[in-house]
Amino acid sequence: LDPHAIAGDSQAIQDFLAEYYRNVDKYPVRAADLEPGRVRKLLPDAAPEHGEPMDHILEDVRREILPGLTHWQSPRFFAFFPANASSAGLAAEMLSVGLNVVPFVWAASPAAAELESVVVDWMARLFGLPRRFLFFGGGGGVLQGSTCEAVVCTLAAARDRALGRLGHEAIARLVVYASDQTHATFQKGARLVGIKPSNFRVIRTSAASGYGLTAEAVRAAVDRDVGLGLVPLYLCATVGTTGLGAVDPVREIGEEARRHGMWVHLDAAYAGSAAICREFQDYLDGAELADSVSMNPHKWFLTNMDCCCLWVARPRDLISALSTDPEYLKNVGADDDVAGKPAAIDYKDWQISMSRRFRAIKLWVILRRYGAAGMRAHIRRHVAAAKWFEQRVAADERFEVVVPRTFSLVCFRLAPRVGRDDDDATNHVNRDLLAAVNASGRAFMTHFVVDGKFVIRLAVGGASTELQHVMEVWDLLQGKAVEVLQHYQT
Ligand code: PLP
Repeated sequence: LDPHAIAGDSQAIQDFLAEYYRNVDKYPVRAADLEPGRVRKLLPDAAPEHGEPMDHILEDVRREILPGLTHWQSPRFFAFFPANASSAGLAAEMLSVGLNVVPFVWAASPAAAELESVVVDWMARLFGLPRRFLFFGGGGGVLQGSTCEAVVCTLAAARDRALGRLGHEAIARLVVYASDQTHATFQKGARLVGIKPSNFRVIRTSAASGYGLTAEAVRAAVDRDVGLGLVPLYLCATVGTTGLGAVDPVREIGEEARRHGMWVHLDAAYAGSAAICREFQDYLDGAELADSVSMNPHKWFLTNMDCCCLWVARPRDLISALSTDPEYLKNVGADDDVAGKPAAIDYKDWQISMSRRFRAIKLWVILRRYGAAGMRAHIRRHVAAAKWFEQRVAADERFEVVVPRTFSLVCFRLAPRVGRDDDDATNHVNRDLLAAVNASGRAFMTHFVVDGKFVIRLAVGGASTELQHVMEVWDLLQGKAVEVLQHYQT
């Protein structure tokens, strides 16, 4: 770690990135070269024997790697959900990886652990979460790499809490509840913590409830299971589902779950960011009924990968499921004086892995650099652009909005044509429309299927996406729609 080499190598990368971001709008958004194995063919079979200058390496990045990338930071990237990057996020990530401390126990880097506890409290306050999720209020939070990891941790905590009461043999009777819109990671997580696959309940939603769960549907599923002698364990409520951006009514279903002593997890991976704006905070109403809440700053909160906030109301549930006490960690200076003091948090006991990144400094820098006002402006700019797009779709008789927009995701399609109003025919047309738009390289969107309908998703939220880019994608869609419809008429 020679200081000259640090300055030289990182300067070369900064220059490379500055050029990349100057031109990012010019690349085809989706990887242009989709042939599997292309990169393997271009690169040597073995690592080099001798080190090479950074400039040579970056030249290869430009030539061999960039053409095969999908440009997630293009302002015309509207696929999946956004994965925000920002100048402060990038610089703060450098700070985090540059310091490269490993705060698994408090004493391994006390300021890092404490900064994390401060930042998760700041975030909870910004989103208007109930006091019980703050360290300040008896709960607390942790920064993990992804919602998927956070979900496994909460499922393990819920399982152990229940088995502590019922005995280990009850594991075969524990049931996890989700909706048909819940992220697939809950099913995977349930399997990982030993829930019988047949005890994972997928509750159907419908257009009538905006594809959100209802208390009645939860009650019916739970009552049926209780009647069979099963034990309701865990319910996931999502604010902003992956496919459609649907919202589960947290209070209603939380009350239902509470009647059975279930663990309630509130997954706000994408839409949680919007709760920094007062007008979106009501979607988290009822959060005090949850045992845990998670959201991903790495989606729509100007935070470069990776960063997931997980808050729990009772840290001891999480810690008793995840703590370890190996001998080799007993020599890092955590003497009896610090152990057990509330501020001396051993974050290894709040997550799956032992080693961990210093994510707190990244989020702290971002929050200070942009401030809450800057974050609100970022969210509102995208919501306004999505609203503009939704209005255009609704006003054009060739198109239809399939599910009303709540945040910055618009789900739409070319409407069924007169005389050809079956979903199969309509789905073909929409599949072709999406393929034509993506093949143009001028935008990238992805689809979802709901009630047999192929739906095109415009997920607005890229850090540099402006209304102008959304207007251009609307023009592009209209042009491609004419071509596709003509093709079907001939
Ligand atoms: N939950 C929801 C609602 C999501 O939209 C996503 C990702 O899109 C996830 C969970 C998974 O998040 P991660 O990739 O951080 O594990």
